[in-house]
Amino acid sequence: MEKFLVDRMLGRLVSWLRMLGYDTVYANDVSGEGGGDAEDAFLLSLAKEEKRILLTKDRKLAAEARKSGVRCVLMTKNDVLGQLSELTGSVPLRLEMTFVRCSECNAPIRRVREDETQMLLETDYVPKKMIGKLEFWVCEGCRRIYWEGSHWRAINERLDLLKRITSRQVGNEQTTSE
Ligand SMILES: [Zn+2]
Repeated sequence: MEKFLVDRMLGRLVSWLRMLGYDTVYANDVSGEGGGDAEDAFLLSLAKEEKRILLTKDRKLAAEARKSGVRCVLMTKNDVLGQLSELTGSVPLRLEMTFVRCSECNAPIRRVREDETQMLLETDYVPKKMIGKLEFWVCEGCRRIYWEGSHWRAINERLDLLKRITSRQVGNEQTTSE
């Protein structure tokens, strides 16, 4: 499965890639002071070392990546669905939401066990009436709790829309190449 390193201008894309289950490092979380050639060099070496695909809106950085043999996709769109669609053109993505990875911190998430109800009760944003009715997941890094709520369904609907758009694009390409 592909792994990504995402630059500072693409924060929302980071969360979405993690929700799709992709191991995604955000430049904001790993490099100190923003910007400059030192940060570019750091990102390139990290991408190379951890075999991550670099996603950036910075043309100069993308050109550097190409020179140093780092796989890179230059993003041009501003909205997250546009970016995912753009990315799918270069890297085939599995566009399915999955409870694998924390969208906040990238750590693995796991199912909450029956004997851990107390943890759910103590988390203020968990809808208490859903405890025992829904499955919950917990991040092993930051302890954030996840469940299939309305936010989850809204994202799934947007992904379904994206899948229809990208399959249409593939269809069009096939038509024009014939
Ligand atoms: Zn987390």
